[in-house]
Formats: sequence, C-alpha cells, structure tokens
Amino acid sequence: MHLYGQSADMEPIMAIAKKHNLRVIEDGAQAISTQYKDGKCVGTIGDIGCYSFFPSKNLGGYGDGGMVVTMDEELGHKLEILRMHGSEPKYYHKIIGGNFRLDALQAGVLSVKLPHLNSWSEGRRKNAELYTKFFIENGLASEEGKTEFNKKEKILLPQAIYKHSELKNYHIYNQYIIRIEKRDELKEFLFKNEIVTEIYYPIPFHNQECFSDLDSSKAKYPNADFAAEYSLALPIYPELTNEHINYVVEKITEFIAK
Ligand SMILES: *Cc1c(COP(=O)(O)O)cnc(C)c1O
Repeated sequence: MHLYGQSADMEPIMAIAKKHNLRVIEDGAQAISTQYKDGKCVGTIGDIGCYSFFPSKNLGGYGDGGMVVTMDEELGHKLEILRMHGSEPKYYHKIIGGNFRLDALQAGVLSVKLPHLNSWSEGRRKNAELYTKFFIENGLASEEGKTEFNKKEKILLPQAIYKHSELKNYHIYNQYIIRIEKRDELKEFLFKNEIVTEIYYPIPFHNQECFSDLDSSKAKYPNADFAAEYSLALPIYPELTNEHINYVVEKITEFIAK
C-alpha cells in the first residue's frame, strides 16, 4: 500500500516476492500517478495495481469507482471476466464473478477531471511545502522526517522520501500528516476554530476486532501504535491559499503555547 500519496519502498518488496515466488498487488488508492524513485508509477511495479476513484481521492468521481491495471495478459483477461459476473462468452459462467463495472457517468466525470490531476498534485505539493516552512519558522519543528518528540520537535513533519528535481510526482499528498502529542485535544481545538482534520488511522491492524482471532494482542508493533496515537491529517487540497495554511499553523502554534 502506498500510504498518503507517496510510493512504498518497492525494491525490497519485489525482491522478497521474487525470492518466494509471490505475487504483488499494489494498493495505489492514495497515490494515483505517484512515481517510485526509478520514475515508475505506482501500480505498475507489481503484478497488479489498484486505484480508487472514491470522491475523497486525488482523482475522485461523483460516487464509487475504481480501476485495476496489469501488464499480465492472462490476469487481465481473468479480471475482465470477473468484472462482468464471471461470464465468457456472455451468459456462460466458468467462474463466479460480480458486477465491478465502472459506470458511464463516473467514467465521464473522471475523463473531465483526469487532465487536471497533475496541476492539482502540484498544488498539494506546494501546500505541503508551505506547511513545512511555516512549522519550521514558528519553531515547532526543525526539519522533515524526525521520529521523536523533544524540545525542538513539538511536531513531527512528514518526509517526501523520493523528492528529487527529476521526479515530478514524487508525492501527490493525498494526505499531509503531522504527528503531535495531545492529538485528540488539538483536533477538537482546531474544529472549534473551523479547521477540519482527520485521523488516518485510529486503530492499527493488530488491534482491529476483526483480526482478534489472530491473537496479535501479544505481538508488539510500536511504530504502528505510535502512528495511531499521534497522527493527524491537515487540510491539503489544492485550492487552499497561503492565508489558509498560515491560519492552520497559527492555530496549532497557539494550541502548543497554551
Ligand atoms: C480509499 C482507499 C481504499 C478503498 O477504496 P474503495 O474505492 O473504497 O474501494 C483502499 N485502500 C486505500 C489505501 C484507500 O485510501
């Protein structure tokens, strides 16, 4: 899964898959058009890539929708059959499928929006840079990618790992996530000041009820626990102005000074 809009580190993942003869399915729902360090787009590195056109995604429809891509002809053919109730030819069912068609209305909306995707991503990157700049200027953080809170790091800033002048879509910022202590209090404070934030994600896998039979309760996942406790997504959509971003940073600064 390519979290928040930048690529996962695919090299070691592909190496493990090769070694053990595994298939790799990429979840690119938050990272459509994002490039990995070698320039390849996410979703085109593993065997299958998945994208979501849910309205909250960077390329969102006016309802549900999604897309699966593959370079493997056999897999591609099977996906096409699965998409149409498992039938081939029509009304002859070799396998059990479903209705996973993208409806024409969504396809129409997405076709109109697609040409804007890169400029919207550019807007999000610009906003992310502004947040980072303002947080550092206000003395809440020293640089991106720190992992421990201390006097200099009141906020842990996200890091664009593959940022490079020759890599245009190194990040598309589906989310700009800071980590901060007293996260829930801050969320409430910001909401009172008309700033809507979100927690991606409050419960890590190993604590989800649906996986309780796996007895993961005894296992230790300190990084996942840390992320769940402190992460907060700030508004990052492309139409935000400098003033908006400045207002958000000022309010967070005010909260920390209290
Ligand atoms: C939104 C999202 C999904 C789900 O997409 P649907 O269109 O609701 O199926 C899956 N994975 C990630 C990482 C997402 O952000």
